[in-house]
Amino acid sequence: MRNYKKIQTEKNTVTKIVCNKCKKEITIKNGIPEEEMLTVEKRWGYFSHKDGELHRFDICEECYDTWIASFKIPVYGEQELEC
Ligand SMILES: [Zn+2]
Repeated sequence: MRNYKKIQTEKNTVTKIVCNKCKKEITIKNGIPEEEMLTVEKRWGYFSHKDGELHRFDICEECYDTWIASFKIPVYGEQELEC
């Protein structure tokens, strides 16, 4: 989730990023987030049950670590295929 405020130039500027999972707020100072976040943006297509829907969320590093710990295949591992 992202909060925006209008500035004089009518352009939208991100002022803070909120983790969708735990609601932790990451402040943006001079256009730079104080902590790194994972941003996922997905436009679901025809072969999904969400055809045409755009999903977007931001996840803080702590929630990311919890999330990937539940993966059966580690994100930073490679698996050799047996031929
Ligand atoms: Zn979080």
